[in-house]
Amino acid sequence: MLEWDEDFKGLISFLKDQRNPPFLLCDENTYKVCGEYISKELEKLKISYDLLILPPDSHSDEKNIGKAFLNTRENSLIVSVGSGSITDTARFIAYKQRLRFVSVPTAPSMDGYASPVSALTINGLKTTVLAKPPEKIFANLDIIKTSPNILKRAGFGDLMGKFTALADWKLSNILTGETINLKVVEEMYKACEDTLRNIEKENFEKLLLEGLIKSGELMTIIGNSRPASGSEHHVAHYWEFLGYNLFHGIKVGLSTLYIIRLYKTLLKINLDDLKYRNNIIKSFEEWKDEIKRNFSKIHDEIIKENIERIKKFNNLDFRREIIEKIKINRGKIYSIVEKLVEREEKILEGYKKINFSTNLEDWKIKKEDLRRALIYSIYIRDRFSILTLYQILGILEEEVEKII
Ligand SMILES: [Zn+2]
Repeated sequence: MLEWDEDFKGLISFLKDQRNPPFLLCDENTYKVCGEYISKELEKLKISYDLLILPPDSHSDEKNIGKAFLNTRENSLIVSVGSGSITDTARFIAYKQRLRFVSVPTAPSMDGYASPVSALTINGLKTTVLAKPPEKIFANLDIIKTSPNILKRAGFGDLMGKFTALADWKLSNILTGETINLKVVEEMYKACEDTLRNIEKENFEKLLLEGLIKSGELMTIIGNSRPASGSEHHVAHYWEFLGYNLFHGIKVGLSTLYIIRLYKTLLKINLDDLKYRNNIIKSFEEWKDEIKRNFSKIHDEIIKENIERIKKFNNLDFRREIIEKIKINRGKIYSIVEKLVEREEKILEGYKKINFSTNLEDWKIKKEDLRRALIYSIYIRDRFSILTLYQILGILEEEVEKII
């Protein structure tokens, strides 16, 4: 899907061969970076096109989606020139209007370029909706390399989150029997490791973008987001819900470190002790109050979506079953944790090299909101992870307290 494209020769010749009129979707920054160049090249070839330039740092919200809608024709070929929000908007419109769509990434900043879903901001809340992956991605290496450092840090953080996402997937496979595709797991690991090894080297940005695009492609193969997203993404989504306006990948990069810490404590837990503890079980009313306090506007929805899950979380027999499975599979679980421990040091070294601060204060994230995110993000999606495991074992709150 990805084509490295010098001077956008590949993109221009692709557009020339299509019958559909190109619709360039940019923002003011990305127009300057390459949107303008692409329009001039199209003009030289007398290819007529539509163009919409959104204000800088526009969100993919109702207003911008509406503006983009108004600029499409029934046979437009959308060319999204930008990173996160621009691509999210384009992907969603392409899906809704059944339009063709190619992407021109301007920074290695997030994992959504090849993704089959879009993150939109509707009523001020981040919502994931179905979308259409691009037919092709035309990336220019000079542009990717000279993109702002903060965007590279975000992309790197997002990619490092795959280590915990894959660990969650493996853990779920062992403890709940969820289907896993080990070839996909290995492919994702390899992309992350290649990038990690090449930090500060010539091809770092190239590998970073390739890894991020790969995660979207693997999601399409699997049909869900397991290869790309786990508990670290849920924590990031909870911060998004609280209104933290940092880049997605920065939030993922930070939460990944805390998820690794939780994995590290997994092997130290005295499982026999937990089997007969029942003092941590909450009453339904108590749980509902907690959800109300921690999910303000959307608490009704969250309660409705989790009613069945909470029964499972409170079922002591289910807990004992899971404990037995952990005991039987200790070796396999040990190797998941070991792999993460090995990576932790390298990830931290990597963050240092690219000046990605791991101090939450530097990002203005309150410790209390870290605590809330680790405890309550499990209710955002029904997906087994290290966080749901701790909830099932009845130790989530106490373990979180120890690592923050
Ligand atoms: Zn992500």
